[in-house]
Amino acid sequence: MNLAEKLPRDRYEENFAELHPAFDRNQATSEAHRCLYCFDSPCMKACPTHIDISTFIKKIATGNVKGSAKTILESNWIALTCAKACPVDVLCEGACVYNDRGEKPIEIGRLQRYAIDRYFEQGMPPLFTPAPKNGKSVGIIGAGPAGLACAAELALMGYDATIYEGKEIAGGLDTWGIAPYKMSFEDSLKEVKLVQGLGVKIKTGVWIGKTVSVPELERTHDAIFVGIGLGISPDLKIPGEDLAGVFDALEFIERVTTRRWSSVDVGKRVVVIGAGNTAIDAATEAKRLGAEHVAIVYRRGEQEMSAYGFEFDLAKKDGVVFHFLTAPKRILGPAGGSVETLECTKMKLGPAGANGRRPAEPIPQSEFRIPADMVIKAIGQKTSDSFLAQIPSVKLNEGRVVVNPESLQTSNPRYFAGGDCINGGKEVVNAAADGKRAAHGIDRYLFSK
Ligand SMILES: Cc1cc2nc3c(=O)[nH]c(=O)nc-3n(C[C@H](O)[C@H](O)[C@H](O)COP(=O)(O)OP(=O)(O)OC[C@H]3O[C@@H](n4cnc5c(N)ncnc54)[C@H](O)[C@@H]3O)c2cc1C
Repeated sequence: MNLAEKLPRDRYEENFAELHPAFDRNQATSEAHRCLYCFDSPCMKACPTHIDISTFIKKIATGNVKGSAKTILESNWIALTCAKACPVDVLCEGACVYNDRGEKPIEIGRLQRYAIDRYFEQGMPPLFTPAPKNGKSVGIIGAGPAGLACAAELALMGYDATIYEGKEIAGGLDTWGIAPYKMSFEDSLKEVKLVQGLGVKIKTGVWIGKTVSVPELERTHDAIFVGIGLGISPDLKIPGEDLAGVFDALEFIERVTTRRWSSVDVGKRVVVIGAGNTAIDAATEAKRLGAEHVAIVYRRGEQEMSAYGFEFDLAKKDGVVFHFLTAPKRILGPAGGSVETLECTKMKLGPAGANGRRPAEPIPQSEFRIPADMVIKAIGQKTSDSFLAQIPSVKLNEGRVVVNPESLQTSNPRYFAGGDCINGGKEVVNAAADGKRAAHGIDRYLFSK
């Protein structure tokens, strides 16, 4: 029996409780009244979707919560996920002028959530009227935030928008990837419903390139948006990767986000390889599932890790141990059996090269072992090269789809792209912004504007 099965249900609920609980009406109103309505709105500039933050906050302060939701959704169709999961400290709240005065910034994320939660609670009363049908049809590959935002915006402009999603449930990583203590699976599905409410058709269980071919898609639609995100982690290319107990971070996280907590295999001693936000999520989620000891192994130093400071702090608070300047060398366990130990090498950083990056080099004879019954690989996600190769003339650069930064049109004029597949893996808000921008790029292309 794995350790998770020993944890009672209510312990899981407690461990995965929301980090930032909802405001009630009084809290929201009083926080909204703190906003200074700055004339140059640095918060709005810092948001990739440029939500008119001062206006939506003002509407909350005056009790016009439905109007507030409308202001938010005009800029961002994925507003609930962004309210709950955006790294607000480095975006809108990080830009709030209160920071300059050494005071607490406005809690913009929680206010946004307040307005959008109320909107969903009221059953999504219609806020927008789609334009009459314009006779053009767009196929969207992927129902993640980029695809959903693109489809919603197109539907509003009168396009016939159909999303093709390989998985049985739409939402992309908002549904399958974001930590349950930030938002729930159900929150993401509310946004899917919102987009469907605008007339967007979503065909799930359809993998383009397998279930439906690329030429077939081209015959059906006037233009195509590619919002396929990224794939799983690449191989570590070290011995022992095939042992039982070695997992890809996304496969592990996907089971946690769907809240099938008691069925998730979690070891007593877990080692996560990598130090980005996904690695931190995997480590904190393993800890919250009941793992006794969780360590992160990263070949470079604390300064070089890509995880946000607040994610790092959360992992440390959860008791995750960090081994910086440490590279995995081999995973050990009996042939055909389960992982028992991770052998690592200590590393040192050399002088910075022309690109400013300090190369990590192994320190001879520095090997040591970390006992582990579970190893999670979280060293970044691979591009879906084999799928992208099926699209004629679409160029890639270092695994990213190359696009025109204004229109998000690819090197094949009928194709547009956005989200993780063009930026190599950023945030939901970037994908939401890209989807919307690409919809307008498609509109200009199809009507030669
Ligand atoms: C573990 C993890 C945690 C994260 N946490 C946060 C967070 O807290 N906050 C935050 O802002 N961001 C977070 N992110 C980043 C964020 O989830 C992504 O930036 C965002 O989801 C990218 O959106 P997307 O639409 O480009 O791709 P995705 O969300 O990956 O969606 C792509 C969709 O396309 C589908 N698809 C792929 N290929 C095909 C095909 N051939 N045919 C049909 N469908 C296809 C996929 O099944 C998927 O549903 C996290 C990412 C990870 C991995």
